[in-house]
Formats: sequence, C-alpha cells, structure tokens
Amino acid sequence: MPLRVGLFATSPRGVRRTTAGFPLQSLTLPLTLLLTSHYIKINITISIIFEVYNFMNVLLIGNGGREHALAWKIKQSAKCEKLYVAPGNAGTSLVAENVSIGVEEFEKLGIFCIESKIDLVVVGPEVPLVKGIRDFFESKESLKNIPMVGPGKAGAQLEGSKDFSKQFMLRNNIPTAKAKTFYSHQANEAVQYLDTCQPPLVLKADGLAAGKGVIITSDVDEAKATLREMLEHKKFGDASAKVLVEEFLNGIELSVFVLTDGEDYIILPEAKDYKRIGDGDTGPNTGGMGSVSPVIFADKDFMQKVEDKIIKPTIAGLKKEQISFKGFVFIGLMNVKGEPLVIEYNTRMGDPETQSVMSRIKSDFLELLLAAAKGELKGHKIEIDPNYAITVVMAAGGYPDNYEKGKIISGLDERTEAYVFHSGTKIKDGRVVTEGGRVLGITGKAKTLAEAREKAYSAVESVNWEGVYFRKDIGNDVLTLMDNKV
Ligand code: ATP
Repeated sequence: MPLRVGLFATSPRGVRRTTAGFPLQSLTLPLTLLLTSHYIKINITISIIFEVYNFMNVLLIGNGGREHALAWKIKQSAKCEKLYVAPGNAGTSLVAENVSIGVEEFEKLGIFCIESKIDLVVVGPEVPLVKGIRDFFESKESLKNIPMVGPGKAGAQLEGSKDFSKQFMLRNNIPTAKAKTFYSHQANEAVQYLDTCQPPLVLKADGLAAGKGVIITSDVDEAKATLREMLEHKKFGDASAKVLVEEFLNGIELSVFVLTDGEDYIILPEAKDYKRIGDGDTGPNTGGMGSVSPVIFADKDFMQKVEDKIIKPTIAGLKKEQISFKGFVFIGLMNVKGEPLVIEYNTRMGDPETQSVMSRIKSDFLELLLAAAKGELKGHKIEIDPNYAITVVMAAGGYPDNYEKGKIISGLDERTEAYVFHSGTKIKDGRVVTEGGRVLGITGKAKTLAEAREKAYSAVESVNWEGVYFRKDIGNDVLTLMDNKV
C-alpha cells in the first residue's frame, strides 16, 4: 500500500471529511522519513481530537414539534457530526437531514443505522417504544450495541398501560389517585361502581389513545354511557378493553421530566402545559396548545417532594422490578394543596413542553443523552437557564376534530425574537404547508414571563395560514399566580 500524506483542514470537524492523499514513492528517503514522522504526528493528533470530541452520527425518530426541538438542541452540540431525523418535518430539515422512514419501520430504521454508521438513536414518540423498537434492536447482532435513548417494551408499559402504571405506583408507594380497573366483560359492574363515586368522574382507557382516552365528566349518566361504549363497544379499540375509573384530583398540573439510565437520573426543567383547545381551559382535550417553563409553584420545597416521593421510588421501583430503563420518564402530576400526586407516566418527552424545556437547557444535551443511553449518567449535571420560556401552539382550524391540510404558511421568514418549532408541516412545491392538527409551536424566551409571552405572541401574529387557530391565554394563569404571590 503506498504511503499517503493527508491534507487536513484546521477545523476538527473538517478533518474527517477532507483527508486526501498522494503517493510518495518518488520522493527521497530523508523527505519520506520527515513526512512519515509528520504523518504519524498528524494521525496521532487526529486520533486525540476524535477521542476528545467523540463525533457522533445521531438518528432521531419522530416528526413532531418535540422532535424539532430535540433536533435543534442536539445540533448545538459540538459532538454532533451528522443528525438525521426519521421521518422529520419541514422544521427538522432546517437543522438536520430528514430520512423518509416511518417511526414503526424498525427493519428499515435498523438498516439505515448500519449504513449511516449511527452512534446514537433517540426515540421521540411513544408508539415505537410501546411497540418495542429497543427490543427489536437488541434482538439483532448488528444493532444491539448502538446506544438508544428510549426504554424497551417492558419500561414503555408505564405509558402504554394505565393499569400497569397504576399497579406499579401502588407497589412502589408512589402517591397517585385511587382507581379501580374494569375489563370488557365487567361493564355492568363498572357502571354500578360509578354510583359509588363522587363526581367529577374520571374514566381512562388503559392503552394509548393519542391523548383522547381520558374522559372527565360530572354527568353520571354520560359517564355510564361512555363507560359502556368504551368497554362493550371498543370506543378506543383495544385501548379501552380495560378502563380505569379514577378519583378526580383537584389541583394544578405540572410536567416533570427525568432523563435516566436506570440507575442515576437528571431532572430537566419542569413545565406546565395547556391541554384544552379553548381559552380559559375550555373545550376538548388536545395534544397540548402551549407550555410554560419554569412554573412558579414548582419551587425548591415542592420539587424536593417530587424527587423524594416520586422520582426516587420510580427509578428504584424499575430497578427492583428488573425493568431496564434508559430514556425519559415524564411525570404528569397534580399539585394538590402542596402535595404531588401522579396522574400519569409517559416514557418520552412531552409536546409542546419539549420546546420550552429545550430552550432552557444550557448543557450539551447530546452528551447527556449519550451518557443515559450508555448507562454512564453518574456524575453528570445539568445547567439550566433561569429565564422563562413559553410556547404557543398554532393549530389548524377545526383541530382537535376534523381539519384541513395543505394550507400554505406565510410569514415564516419574518425576523422575530422567538423560535419557530414545526410540528405538522411539510414542504410542497418549495413552500411550507400544514400537514397536521398542531402545526407550529412558537417559543419566546426572556428574563420575565411577561416578556417571553410578548415575544412569542408577536411572532405568532406574523405567521398565518387559512383557518389558523391558537389560544390567546397561554401563560396567563401562571402570571396570575405570580402576581398573587408578590
Ligand atoms: P396524554 O397522552 O395527552 O398525556 P393521556 O391520554 O395519557 O394524556 P392523562 O394524562 O392521564 O391521559 O390525562 C389527560 C388529562 O386529564 C390530564 O392532563 C389531566 O388534565 C386530566 N386528568 C387525568 N386524570 C385526572 C385525575 N385523576 N383528576 C383530575 N384530572 C385528571
């Protein structure tokens, strides 16, 4: 093999791409020796640089606003060599390369990982987790060593089955609302049970139902009819083959996010989201119409309770039950008179909380993700920006019911002080068009919540499409709480 001298760019990131060479046989011995020693030195330098910088190719799976926010944050890392998002959206294509593979196409995702030399897989949404993407990768010799953020099927049951997660909480003394589970053959018994409950009544489909499987009503007859529909007529398909009737918790909600490797954990910034479609928390539930971070009542004392009563026993419970868990635990909780009670677990980040949460993380997030995926989180810390972040979701008219797609979005090029995260968008004929119910999440960040809100809403005003809808009151309740505390 001829000796080659490489041409190297000065930037460490360029080194990998710009090596090239030419044969040296015709040069004299002293020159060869001189160049050889330089060559060795340069090679050693490159190895050290690669060792230190540990460049990575990352595959992020998903196509929502959560994934755009994660991609945006991951791409800020100096360690990120190449970032792919499968399948991504118009927004992720601004910071990464979209790959047109669906989130449930495990075979294709695996082949892509091998071909593109992926060093880390980050799973965004719940469906591939519940369907076992980690188990699939772990079952293949060629894929099992690729670090992945996201639990296996067993861990994803914390989100995939509300009955499993309720039993897990009870087994591990984690505070939560009382509940009773009924199977499809127990519809009569379930309906009778409702007469013994104090309204408002909370009915929960056991499985994944895209955020629509929870019904809360004070109308007992309506609750009875819905319960029958769920259990006897599979209102939510197999997801409602089991239904939980749960005690109603009266309080203020909070979303707490934990990144864990199953042993150690890091608590990310907390957030509050806005589930209902209408101002003043009215109308049907949605995937989320906005978010705010930080949240005033999540002070040191409250968060200490959350850590001691919920986070620690959750991680310990997973370990005790031999459920390996490398990924996110998203705890949806209710602050009831200063006490945190778990409403639900999710095993991925929330959308649109991620947009606000990522905006407040100062640390190299890719480094933390890799550490969690490799089981090396111990000793890692997170640096959080004390500023406020607020995200306002812009949705298609008619969402969460029927809505139209394909509307041309204008105003995206306007320079504003807010960041535009895409959710349901795609590029069609060179234009960005709507492709989902929740279309954009616009995030403002500032020293005060009022300023952050102002930034987000003035950017919202500059973006438009036919039928656009957004809530006008995101953050108002938190501002009121802050005013009352002063
Ligand atoms: P998502 O997938 O959108 O996160 P989900 O369908 O998994 O939601 P939950 O988060 O359990 O369902 O409930 C949806 C919403 O219903 C909660 O965010 C909360 O506002 C309300 N809710 C759920 N359980 C209770 C309860 N026991 N008491 C009061 N409100 C509740």
